[in-house]
Amino acid sequence: MPKGNSSSLLRNRVFLYGLLFVSAIVLLTIVFFRQKPLEYYDKTEYHLGTYVTIRVSSSTMSPVTLAEAAFTEIKRIDDKFGSRSNGVIAELNRTGELHDIDKETSFLIRSALEIARNTSGAFDPTLYSLTRLWGFDDESSKKRIPNDKEIEDALGSTGFSRITYDEELGYVSLVDGAMIDLGGIAKGYAVDMAIAKIKSLDPDATGFIDAGGDIGVIGPKYGNRPWIVGVRNPRGESVQDVIEYIYLYDGAVATSGDYERFFVEDSVRYHHILDPETGFPSRSGVISATVIGKSTMLADAYATAAFVIGMEPGVTFLPRFGALVLLVMEDMSIFRSPGFEVYQER
Ligand code: AMP
Ligand code: MG
Repeated sequence: MPKGNSSSLLRNRVFLYGLLFVSAIVLLTIVFFRQKPLEYYDKTEYHLGTYVTIRVSSSTMSPVTLAEAAFTEIKRIDDKFGSRSNGVIAELNRTGELHDIDKETSFLIRSALEIARNTSGAFDPTLYSLTRLWGFDDESSKKRIPNDKEIEDALGSTGFSRITYDEELGYVSLVDGAMIDLGGIAKGYAVDMAIAKIKSLDPDATGFIDAGGDIGVIGPKYGNRPWIVGVRNPRGESVQDVIEYIYLYDGAVATSGDYERFFVEDSVRYHHILDPETGFPSRSGVISATVIGKSTMLADAYATAAFVIGMEPGVTFLPRFGALVLLVMEDMSIFRSPGFEVYQER
């Protein structure tokens, strides 16, 4: 064999092996990075009168930093809008009117009023005198059944028509001694704002935030899979006792249940979701209401409303406002508004 031929054969071989080696490395790198699951970081803290869990993952920054930023945001909202803190709502309840309210306060009051109108007052953001009377304003408050006179007096200072709100002027006032309680909507709003905070730091972050059953999705699990949310058995022993499953890629779901805050007297359960018409814990036959919505704020507020409204036609008209409803009744039967089942298929 001529010498030139054998050396070119050798060169070809070396080239071929080299190519194979490089391809193998590239392939292995792709497989390694593709299959390596993102790690999720979990943190739970107590805010807004409930346990808030953040599960978050990021491929560009520390999830610990993201969770910290989210908790700071939740705490800010709790301080600003809690009826018992030193924020803007507490000040409004004390003084009866506020001028030059900021955009965020304006947004939250406007949203609460709109939901109150949409639900004919089943959701009512003016029940603070009632929640205080029953002792549902705080975990440490004494729970008791108020007498008829107390309920009647309190009903004289509740009702969303007792809020005067002028968006242009940034003015809000409360008449007849009305006091605002955003407990039925603030948790959801805080979750939305915390998610916005995380997204501002890493738009591709994924995970979810769960504030006592009000859940907002940061992004799908591992970027392409749904989060599986269990609807708790309202009469179950623990959160692990689940009766229905929901699959969520985005958006939010919130549950209002009579097991969250309650006391029992003479075998009767008195819980924290009040019927604005009677001033008593709502007795619509519902023991838990779950709402899927675009934002956690909407899901939260409509879940509280759905609990009060109860079965048909209530459950069927709420989808008009973007709220899909699942109700669990006292006999453990289940009602769904049209469209809810779509989120129960894998
Ligand atoms: P949630 O846990 O979201 O159902 O909200 C319940 C909380 O909202 C209660 O602890 C009260 O602070 C407040 N609340 C009670 N009843 C109502 C109602 N009918 N409409 C709006 N807020 C309510
Ligand atoms: Mg709610």
